[in-house]
Amino acid sequence: MKKLDVIIVGGGLAGTVLAWHLRELDQSFLIFDNPERPSSSRVAGGLFNPVTGKYLAKTWLVEELFEYLTPFYNNIENQTGSSFFHKIGLHRPFSGQAHKESALAQLDKHDLKDWVSVENKDLGKAFASEGEGLFSENAGYLDLPVFLDASKAFFMNQIREEEFQIKELLWDEAGVQYKDVSASKIIFCDGWAGTGNAYFSWLPFNPVKGETLVGKVQDYEANFIVNQGKWIIPLGEGRARLGATYSWHELDFLPSEKARLDLLEAGSKILQVPFQVEEQHAGVRPATKDRRPFVGFHPVHKNLGIFNGLGAKGVSLAPYFGRQLARKIVYGEVIQPEANIERFYTLYS
Ligand SMILES: Cc1cc2nc3c(=O)[nH]c(=O)nc-3n(C[C@H](O)[C@H](O)[C@H](O)COP(=O)(O)OP(=O)(O)OC[C@H]3O[C@@H](n4cnc5c(N)ncnc54)[C@H](O)[C@@H]3O)c2cc1C
Repeated sequence: MKKLDVIIVGGGLAGTVLAWHLRELDQSFLIFDNPERPSSSRVAGGLFNPVTGKYLAKTWLVEELFEYLTPFYNNIENQTGSSFFHKIGLHRPFSGQAHKESALAQLDKHDLKDWVSVENKDLGKAFASEGEGLFSENAGYLDLPVFLDASKAFFMNQIREEEFQIKELLWDEAGVQYKDVSASKIIFCDGWAGTGNAYFSWLPFNPVKGETLVGKVQDYEANFIVNQGKWIIPLGEGRARLGATYSWHELDFLPSEKARLDLLEAGSKILQVPFQVEEQHAGVRPATKDRRPFVGFHPVHKNLGIFNGLGAKGVSLAPYFGRQLARKIVYGEVIQPEANIERFYTLYS
């Protein structure tokens, strides 16, 4: 029997970020990840952005999350020798005088001066707007497939690429046992599949389907993200990613004609040249009803934990809460109450 500190189920963003933190705390772990299953991390845009939404709101816990993001991902880039954390900034061009005035009013009202500034950017020929707008220099994107593949290669001997059969899990006061492995704890990082997890499906998930397009844009020069309702991320060599849609229906990983048309229509308002589609990606964000993550331990089976519910902001949330969960496991430290699943214990029966 192989004895470990932690079994991790799921090798998407949540499971991988948790694994890096456990490694830092000298914990032994094994990740089960079935590559045949769809993963929302593999199709995500990967944006991190301190100020979001139409009304320019600061991301929840913006100071804490953004102080830790860059050193966390940079450190993994150094350890794996790869490049995936692209802090290239995000620009929101003003669409006209009225938009400019309302954006400046929001800037004052929400005290955003530390996070966005009025700048005149050279958007090049592809964009319809003039260059003046609000720029967030702390924004950018994580190339999630590159991050996941680099981590997978690094943890080569700590991953089993197979389905975790939840029915074969045994547990008692001392820990858990699964086939030939025993561990003190098991943490489910199974993303959207968590909605059907025998131990955690009682949690109030609110999954949201999302789609993006990748394609070519003639004369594309901007080397930062442009956001005008939808965002466009430069991928180099005239390629860009356009996203994303939100749908609470048809929760599957299948690209739809409707999303493609909606994105192209939005893109045609931002760009003055056609977006030539090469790829379309679809996935389901593991979002929650109260828009806060699910972090913590089962109300009855105390060695069974969860790290899920990262929703549309997984790249920003995962490092901060992955660290909290790892430190809870090792030192018994506190998990932020708004994220701790203890807030829903009354729903469990
Ligand atoms: C179109 C789209 C755009 C997005 N854009 C952004 C964005 O710009 N910025 C941002 O921060 N977030 C974005 N997101 C959200 C982001 O993808 C998620 O927050 C995050 O990736 C969730 O990671 P996860 O590890 O919880 O889930 P997943 O990435 O889905 O990982 C779950 C893993 O568990 C594995 N698994 C499940 N059950 C089992 C089992 N029984 N046995 C073995 N393996 C199992 C699966 O194979 C999978 O690898 C977007 C999502 C979508 C769909």
